[in-house]
Amino acid sequence: MKLYDAHCHLSPNCFSIDINVLCDVIFEDLKNSEVNNEDVVSELGLMSTNQFDSKLVIELGDKLNKNMNRQVIIPSIGIHPWYCHLFSFDDDEENRESNINGDDNQNYKLLHYKKILKLSNTSLDFDDNLRMIQDYLPKPIYIERYLNELKRKVDALLVEDLSLNKYMICGEIGLDKLFRIPLNGFLGNPKEFDYKQIKNNDKDGSNNRLLSNFKVDMKHQIRIFNRQLEFANELKLPISVHSVKSHGVILELIRSFYSENKLKSIKSICLHSYTGSKDQIKQWLSFDQNSKIDVFFSFSNIINISNNMSIKNGNFLMENVIQEIPIDNLLIETDFLVDRYYDCNKDRDHYRDLLKVVDQICKIKCLKRDLCIEHLSQNWNRYLESNLAAKGELLAQARSFPID
Ligand SMILES: [Zn+2]
Repeated sequence: MKLYDAHCHLSPNCFSIDINVLCDVIFEDLKNSEVNNEDVVSELGLMSTNQFDSKLVIELGDKLNKNMNRQVIIPSIGIHPWYCHLFSFDDDEENRESNINGDDNQNYKLLHYKKILKLSNTSLDFDDNLRMIQDYLPKPIYIERYLNELKRKVDALLVEDLSLNKYMICGEIGLDKLFRIPLNGFLGNPKEFDYKQIKNNDKDGSNNRLLSNFKVDMKHQIRIFNRQLEFANELKLPISVHSVKSHGVILELIRSFYSENKLKSIKSICLHSYTGSKDQIKQWLSFDQNSKIDVFFSFSNIINISNNMSIKNGNFLMENVIQEIPIDNLLIETDFLVDRYYDCNKDRDHYRDLLKVVDQICKIKCLKRDLCIEHLSQNWNRYLESNLAAKGELLAQARSFPID
């Protein structure tokens, strides 16, 4: 049987990934499975989260799709809420033109972080806490420059070969109310935090030790999310959405964009590793019915099953939630790291992780496995295809601009 993975990643520590090696390993795996007619994960919605992994996602997609001569990787471009503090709405170019000295860069950087960071506990001292992590925080990137760069790369792929790059996704984007910034500035930063700085460092190994006291102001998160909705709309891409304790806000933002007629070209939404309430499902489904947008709820073994969300989170019970969702609105995913699935240790099995979600859905919906997989595959195609009608137009646009 063939399964797809609607939402997966590269390791946050993507700096150490050799894309050529990874590409070869996945290629071998796919070819062998095809020749021997074995179970296989045949399509991957590979998310990017920041300026580092987006390059690799596009590169891996380009290489592997060419090698396989079909689209295996659906490259997904976006800024994840865990990295949105690395992006600014202020252009630093003017600074750079007038004076290229380090002080100006440092000022631009600190001004940005002071504007968008919020202490999780207001009794703490802001400057003390910022001083602790400021050397780990990179100079922010002007978001418009970044999105333009992504658009140029997407256009170049479309011009090169539309059939191998038919599908793309805008993701992972979203909001996260609980997230705190790691002490070393961002998840996956190769620069390790110097823990000697922390008094009473007890080395207890708990996650708290690794996190700073800063959250990203929700206003900034929302602004980044909204800008990416516009971006997805412009590029006519479906979106893959992360939400932690933000389901209501995200629905409101999308609903208001839609009612202002600003989302003409986003035709489908994937709410990945869904953890919202039954009531919110009803609201999303009524939005699905009253708008021209298809809403999909996606589930993963890691977040929704093995995490035992049903025990940890009172308002989320996988069984109740899946019962509420029609089979036509379900997707499956791993939300796991592709390089880990295919590295030499192979400590996890990609296909098996997806099958666990399928079996859970079968159990709850009282469906046979093959029928369930057929439904889920149709959903995946609908999720990707709904934006295709507009692709021809996008290609025409791409061709009318010189690609550099
Ligand atoms: Zn994810």
